[in-house]
Amino acid sequence: MSEYDIAFVNATVIVGDGSVLKRHTVAVKDGRIAAVSAVANEPIEAGEVVDCEGKWLMPGMIDVHTHTAMWGGETDWGNILDTPDEYLMVRAATYLPWWLEAGFTTVMDGLARRDLSYELRRAQRDGLVTGPRLLVAGHSIVATGARGSFFGPREVSGSDEALRAARESTAIYRNADAVKLMCTSEVLTGQMESRVQLIDSELAAAVDEAHRSGVPVHCHAYGGPGVKAAIEQGVDVIVHGQPIGWEPGPSNDPSIWQSSRRIDGGKYADTDYSGNYQLMVERGTIWAPTLSYYDLIRNHHWDEFRSAVNPFICSRVDAVATAMEENFRRAHEAGVKIACATDSGMPFTYHGDSAYELELYVRYGMTPMEAIVSATKTAAEALWLEDRVGTVEIGKSADLLVLNQDPTKDIRVLQRKGDVIERTYLEGRLLSVSGKVVVPTRETVLGQLRQLETLEEMLGHRSPYLTGALGKRITLPCC
Ligand SMILES: [Zn+2]
Repeated sequence: MSEYDIAFVNATVIVGDGSVLKRHTVAVKDGRIAAVSAVANEPIEAGEVVDCEGKWLMPGMIDVHTHTAMWGGETDWGNILDTPDEYLMVRAATYLPWWLEAGFTTVMDGLARRDLSYELRRAQRDGLVTGPRLLVAGHSIVATGARGSFFGPREVSGSDEALRAARESTAIYRNADAVKLMCTSEVLTGQMESRVQLIDSELAAAVDEAHRSGVPVHCHAYGGPGVKAAIEQGVDVIVHGQPIGWEPGPSNDPSIWQSSRRIDGGKYADTDYSGNYQLMVERGTIWAPTLSYYDLIRNHHWDEFRSAVNPFICSRVDAVATAMEENFRRAHEAGVKIACATDSGMPFTYHGDSAYELELYVRYGMTPMEAIVSATKTAAEALWLEDRVGTVEIGKSADLLVLNQDPTKDIRVLQRKGDVIERTYLEGRLLSVSGKVVVPTRETVLGQLRQLETLEEMLGHRSPYLTGALGKRITLPCC
């Protein structure tokens, strides 16, 4: 028997941490990277040898904020209200493979509709659908009355309820991979205003419960006040954060950003939030920008969007899209850690198109290598998976891409999917070859189902995504 299952030889390795290894061999055993070495003198013993002469080997990419219940093709996302879960599930099974063609091997579902994404996670894990490793944040925890019933958010008032809502996600039978909070209103529904909807004690209780359960907290926040409260209460990832360092005015006029506002019985408060960038750096809070979603609506599909969606919502999209470049430049220059996040599933933001997000990061100041790190090492950190994925290192999961173009020269080559991404491996399994996804067969499904959860995964209280598993009963909350 060969020492290794697969060996990639003569590869230029883009490690994922900003470094490059020339003419290296990367060997895989049992789904993990078992060796990384300069070209060996002796021929390597492996079941399969992949000659990467003239090619690049890099970690599978990661998107830390997506929505698997939606798919991007509906201008008015409210249509989803009339669509049954069963249909959404079948549709999701169709677009999950698109991620692999595009070189994304891990994605986080940032807001579940009921238990749809938990069940999708299980189906992927059990080998019933071909897709990326799916992580699930479960229901969004919001302030009572803060948000419509769109996705069945979990409304809370008070820290006890916030703790309970977080526990409903992280309890062993659901085993969410993150806890999702929304501490301000959003762009496409409700009011975009500065008020922080979850108070500090609620944020802190949910954060504490999530961390005790071993998962990070991702918090949706628009505008300086919400971002500041979330950072101070210890959330790990700010999702959207448009803008981080100032706050939107009430008029939605994109040229007017509020510099002061009345709070506490009419007094004007100090509303300088420019310190938020530095605060994120000090606390190590990661930012998940989701620029694709604003850019695609505002700069590529504006007429179509405006013809379908009411003017008030359009004005909010306009305001956010106008803020995004300055906000990104300020965050990046301050040294805020940025993780690739697209909000895919939102209008015009299709699953599998996430490499476009990296082009925007480069347009607004990152080097191509920095953009790659945002979708590999930093994205893994945002999901608390940096010990397992995100870089080409011994012991990490063999989530690997073989490319025929150099993305460190031109980040846009990653958008060419199967033309450039010749092979996508997830846990050492070859799942996409030049854009053609390997579909499950009876043999692969049976093989996957024979594997059981490992004790390590159970004790670690994390979803057993590495081994494949079955029999997890996902229950609805009892309240
Ligand atoms: Zn989202």
